[in-house]
Amino acid sequence: MTILAITGKTKLLGVIGHPVEHSLSPVMHNAAIASLGADCIYLPLPVKPENLPAAIAGFSAIGLLGFSVTIPHKQAIVPLLSEVSPVARAVGAVNTVWRSPSGWAGTNTDVQGFLAPLLEQQRDWSQTSAVILGTGGASRAVVAGCAELDVREICVVGRDRDKLAAFQHSWADSSISAALSTHTWEELPQLISRSHLLVNATPVGMYPKVDETPVTAAQMAHLPAGAIVYDLIYTPNPTVFLNIARDSGAIAIDGLEMLVQQGAAALQIWLQQQVPAGVMRQSLRQHLGLAP
Ligand code: NAP
Repeated sequence: MTILAITGKTKLLGVIGHPVEHSLSPVMHNAAIASLGADCIYLPLPVKPENLPAAIAGFSAIGLLGFSVTIPHKQAIVPLLSEVSPVARAVGAVNTVWRSPSGWAGTNTDVQGFLAPLLEQQRDWSQTSAVILGTGGASRAVVAGCAELDVREICVVGRDRDKLAAFQHSWADSSISAALSTHTWEELPQLISRSHLLVNATPVGMYPKVDETPVTAAQMAHLPAGAIVYDLIYTPNPTVFLNIARDSGAIAIDGLEMLVQQGAAALQIWLQQQVPAGVMRQSLRQHLGLAP
């Protein structure tokens, strides 16, 4: 573990969540901070839902530089901020907060993180269909990302008809609405055959239930040639979902790069300088026991 030199001038950053003990953010942020020689430190800040307003007021009082926001505060923090970026408004959730002249400002860097590995693929997305599994917070960031790519058709799959209707309705006032459709899991077999980008935004297959997969090998076999299969999960790495995707000839992307890139985008906002994403990636891979 890197030991940072803490001085009387050291600035404070952190991540609020409940629980927050399992967050990997302190590992990658402190690795980058050490590599830059910046005089700040990033800490886990456990905040219960009922204490969120008091915590934010306290952060103002002690001059915190900024903070990451994780479950369950990503939506609840929105009304407590004086500025919210258009992308965070579209997603309906904030994961990064910094000080602005008018108070706390927030954005959502998950969209940027999700997009980073896809932009490396250099595709014409305008003729492609995306199938997104799940209707939670991460799915919303993925939908916003697909809209930025100008994906022609965005199909979201969920297990609860009321949640699917609410999901569709929540985008009604946005330009994304025209491309978006919602579907039940029974429709997945038909959707797979036209899925150029298949994204798992559910926790199915995540540690400790590592033998599970939201899509079977038989279903995955119907993916079109050259399809990209993206799992937002980063533990285990790879998931069963990605292993069967690779076996069926698809390009597989895991959730680690999204985690790194959303973190790098946040640190860049706080420090107002370029940050070493490679150091952040390496620190996480080492922490998770993955090959360098
Ligand atoms: P969330 O808000 O709790 O949403 C989870 C979604 O998955 C919901 O639609 C839920 O459906 C669905 N789901 C849960 N269990 C299911 C099951 N057994 N079968 C079918 N659907 C199921 O969670 P989230 O924040 O969106 O996160 C989703 C995943 O993305 C997690 O694995 C998380 O670790 C990952 N993630 C990764 C990154 C990254 O940087 N790589 C960032 C964010 C999230 P119901 O609503 O019906 O329960």
